[in-house]
Amino acid sequence: MMRQNTANQAEDTSQEQASGGRSWTETEDLCRKTLDFCAEKGLSPVPPIYELVFKYFEGKREDIVAGLGEALERGPVQSFQLLELHDRYLGNDDLAIAFGTIGTNLGNELGSLEQITSTGQEDAIRSRGELTRLVSGLHSHPSTSDMSSLAQRMRDIVLQQSRNVSDMKEGLDDARGRLSKIERELETYVRQANTDFLTSLPNRRALDAKLSNLFSKPYRPGMHDTLLMIDIDWFKTVNDSHGHEVGDNVLREFSSILKNECQKVDAYPGRWGGEEFCVIHSCKFPGTGLKLAEEIRTRFEGLNWKRMSDGVDIGKITVSVGLARRTEDSDPATLATQADQALYAAKDAGRNRCVEYAPPS
Ligand code: GH3
Ligand code: MG
Ligand code: MG
Repeated sequence: MMRQNTANQAEDTSQEQASGGRSWTETEDLCRKTLDFCAEKGLSPVPPIYELVFKYFEGKREDIVAGLGEALERGPVQSFQLLELHDRYLGNDDLAIAFGTIGTNLGNELGSLEQITSTGQEDAIRSRGELTRLVSGLHSHPSTSDMSSLAQRMRDIVLQQSRNVSDMKEGLDDARGRLSKIERELETYVRQANTDFLTSLPNRRALDAKLSNLFSKPYRPGMHDTLLMIDIDWFKTVNDSHGHEVGDNVLREFSSILKNECQKVDAYPGRWGGEEFCVIHSCKFPGTGLKLAEEIRTRFEGLNWKRMSDGVDIGKITVSVGLARRTEDSDPATLATQADQALYAAKDAGRNRCVEYAPPS
């Protein structure tokens, strides 16, 4: 009876842990709600969307309940919106978990490296001690047989040491292989965490990091650190008239133009979110930023869009660009606000144009 109780208790505890403090019935209920919600809204239950919706129903994360709740109140939600919300609320968690695992693996490797090197070292110290003792014994009572056994022992020690060295080399080679794998994993995680899933451009996190890195360096009067804020014009109409698939393709195509133009002048492009993009460009001449903005705008305007499924003419799609330059007393947030203000001035002036921020006089 006692044994059975203990077994049941152990089972209960593992069930509690496996379901994050909930009963299995509650967990199953949450899973079902999540899947039903995805099916009802036409969302694909890929892991990030599933995780976000699950946490929404679970109700423990107030930010997720509020953020997704607001999006739902605004109207029908699309998969890309949920992916963005996942990135906003849970992207850092994913990164923290990945880094935690990598940290543990690195710790284990450190332990194994210490062991590999210390075993060899301890053996070498022991052998040296033995040899010193044997040689000093030989000085006090020299005899042929002593000399021959000393020579034999020395040969054994040398043999053992060379085995140790080759074991150590093998152990270090293995460790080097495992460390390179960890290094590659780390690079992959960092790249994923900083890349936009749809366009493969640097994402908002990467842009924020790039901006704060720029501002961590002192202001240089001869350099024009410029931020371009780019927004696709009437993009909602593109989606509404031709579907989200077409909308997604427009975003991809624009991204490839953006990447191309930025590569030419060593500027840093990224997706700010939705149909908004950014470019960070440090240039020597004051007009270079505006020239780049015009290049991007005209290249995109030059495309004639056709719907791939039935060849229907979509016509032209344009962008508006707002541009702001760093001043001695600005910071990343001010620069972004100024570029945004310039962007809205471009929209107000009729769209499909580039406007540079002008401080109020
Ligand atoms: P404006 O010229 O004033 O910028 O008008 P707009 O229609 O471009 O702006 P609005 O903010 O009204 O609409 C932006 C739309 O962009 C709404 C949203 O559905 C769509 N969108 C945002 N991200 C994505 C995405 O990843 N894929 C698709 N297909 N659409 C997206
Ligand atoms: Mg917009
Ligand atoms: Mg727009």
